[in-house]
Amino acid sequence: MIHEHLHQALEILDLSHMNAVYDHHAEEASKGSISYLEFLDKLLWAEIEAKRERAARTNLKLAKLPYVKTLDQFDFEFQPSANARRIQELKQLGFVARAENVIFLGPPGVGKTHLAVGLAVEAIRNGHTAYFLSAHELITMIKETIASGRIHRKIKALCKPSILIIDEVGYAAMDEETSHYFFQIISNRYEKGSVILTSNKSYGEWGDVFGNNVVATAILDRLLHHSTTINIKGDSYRVKEKKKAGFYDVSKFESVSTD
Ligand code: ADP
Ligand code: MG
Repeated sequence: MIHEHLHQALEILDLSHMNAVYDHHAEEASKGSISYLEFLDKLLWAEIEAKRERAARTNLKLAKLPYVKTLDQFDFEFQPSANARRIQELKQLGFVARAENVIFLGPPGVGKTHLAVGLAVEAIRNGHTAYFLSAHELITMIKETIASGRIHRKIKALCKPSILIIDEVGYAAMDEETSHYFFQIISNRYEKGSVILTSNKSYGEWGDVFGNNVVATAILDRLLHHSTTINIKGDSYRVKEKKKAGFYDVSKFESVSTD
């Protein structure tokens, strides 16, 4: 009778995980193998864990990551300049709590996006929120929301997640208006929320990316004030995998003229 009454109460209160583990722990308690306090403690923490897991699953979806890969899946031996020690430090997530930024620089295929995603996954598992978009998507979003008059609301929304990931800065150049709003986003998040950014361009080349040295300097000033830069210099992992599979013919690429 009392068990049914309790199950009903847990259902009304929407404590579904407590409901699921209740019978097991109630039996332990009645046998005397756990105390009443332990019993209550176990039930409450089971519910908290389940709620946290559910929130993390939702936050992972909302983050719009291009793929889910963890830092454990990263081969640091293959890519020593990715700086395993500093990534381990970042994995502790102090940078998120302090609203600091992380910038991954390097050529294509060296693992910039993987590491950015890995940090985001770690943060989400620990109760933070993240939002991922490519610079290209951000440029399109800026242009669209300027046209529809929603740009200021959009900038505010991009300020919300604990981590904003802007991937592949540098592939597409920006016009002056877009650079201005890019600066606004970085500036609004400054000391309030982390930015993780990846780029194939060194800082010296950012003037070209933003079409304007003054804006590029202002962006770098905010971005780098509290930040870690990981400069990856190494071979592409994609190329390594293809070489291993035996269907990568470098001569094909060498014969292609790039000018
Ligand atoms: P980038 O963003 O620098 O162009 P990515 O992070 O997209 O490179 O990496 C390309 C692919 O290779 C991804 O599937 C990524 O998971 C994988 N990869 C890159 N570097 C490593 C590494 N050191 N260990 C394991 N996988 C890697
Ligand atoms: Mg990438």
